[in-house]
Amino acid sequence: MGGDVVTKIRIAVLHFAHETVTFLKNDTTLSDFIYPGSPASGEALLKAYPKSYMGGFVRVAREHEGVELVGIESPLWPKTYMGSGWVTSDAFETLVGRMIEGLKAQGPFDGVYLSLHGAMAVRGVPRPEAELARRVREAAGAKARIAATFDLHGNEDDEFQKHADMGFAVKYFPHYDEHLQGERAARMLVRMIRGDYVPAHVTRKVPILTATVRMWTGASPWMDLSQRALVWEAREVDVYVNVFFGFPFADVPDVGITVQVMTNGNEKLAGSIAKDIADFAWRKREAMFSATKIHSMAEGVRLAKAAVATGETPVVLADHSDRSGSATFLLKEIIAQDLSDVIIATIADADATAKVKASGAKGGDPFDMEIGGRVDASAGDPVRISGTILYAAEAYGQFWVAVRFGRGNVLILSTYLVQMMEPFSLGSGGIDIGAFKVFAIKSRVHFRRGFDDNGFARTILLVEPDKPFLGTVHLDALPYENVDLKKYYPYGEPDFRG
Ligand SMILES: [Zn+2]
Repeated sequence: MGGDVVTKIRIAVLHFAHETVTFLKNDTTLSDFIYPGSPASGEALLKAYPKSYMGGFVRVAREHEGVELVGIESPLWPKTYMGSGWVTSDAFETLVGRMIEGLKAQGPFDGVYLSLHGAMAVRGVPRPEAELARRVREAAGAKARIAATFDLHGNEDDEFQKHADMGFAVKYFPHYDEHLQGERAARMLVRMIRGDYVPAHVTRKVPILTATVRMWTGASPWMDLSQRALVWEAREVDVYVNVFFGFPFADVPDVGITVQVMTNGNEKLAGSIAKDIADFAWRKREAMFSATKIHSMAEGVRLAKAAVATGETPVVLADHSDRSGSATFLLKEIIAQDLSDVIIATIADADATAKVKASGAKGGDPFDMEIGGRVDASAGDPVRISGTILYAAEAYGQFWVAVRFGRGNVLILSTYLVQMMEPFSLGSGGIDIGAFKVFAIKSRVHFRRGFDDNGFARTILLVEPDKPFLGTVHLDALPYENVDLKKYYPYGEPDFRG
């Protein structure tokens, strides 16, 4: 006998992701998505993010015999990364238009994988991921199965699942399990195509709106929320749970916490699990706001000095609120209190880095410039830095300048917003990271992976400016137009029925 005949499966792979801070002034435009390497198609797309959702999806899809993956031309993350505002309708229509054209031209497909984020905000499109799914459904046909992966900061409700079949969101922040969710999406998409899984979904919104800095899953109650989802997945066969914490800096109608549960055809079970987790989240709402202590800049720098004096180093001073990357409040305070042996990474300044690049300056040359600030009120005023250039170089699609100044301090300038996730990435260009007692960085939670979870830093201080600027924990200071804060805890009397 010749064994079983393996049915061929063709899966289209698409990518479209952004976490949009709609309160930033600089729109995310078509040109931000177009740079060497982006858009990507074919193997280049499939290999674009090997350690993330895409890598996990491709690896497991290819473990299945007879599966063919087709990378459809798709934009990678914009070069502004998360440091840009509303995605223009021109960018959305042009890029999605190309994706749908590619899907039609290279079809038919049995399945489609969408590698998404969930917190994209597009002018004139209230739910961009759902709209993309709707168009993909139209192009791929009713028989095609559609699976997606999401960041837990996605702003989602049940709209996406009206057009797609499955979604898998990460459970940890920092997002350690991106590749695992990609792997699941692949396995479940193949099972669904083969008729072995018929999703039943239940979605519940929990009207709680929190700043992302508080959402670290290394501490309760956020840790407990992840754990509860994991326990349900462990207890029941074929159950998948998404707990979206949401992204409050996108002014879109589906912000807040969202629980999604998927079972193999058992709607009743999905409903009872969704209710359990939603009720749990609601009961823990007060603790969600006290989980992380936030200091003023002045207090944070003072505490850093005290930690240096008692040898509780390295110290992390994390400005969680800077959404443009250009904010100078922490740098200013470091200078005002004459803190020494600090590495400041980074201040984003496209003009200053371009000037240094044009001048041809290199390591050893003097540096004297006003840097940072300016882009909007939340970035503050520029700060004059006089020192010596350590290096000035192009890398990772940006121009970087490192300047030594003050008493053993180093400032790193970048072109765009940079979120520092681990200290060793700073050790390039001859910089010895062991020489610094304080790391002044821009990050909310992602830095925990390289500065905290591994035991690197002995003191961790989260800071924000005194005024409630756009990355603030004081969300009621933001000029929302599409969100009625009164409907969300802790800003009003939300209507939550467990
Ligand atoms: Zn995220």
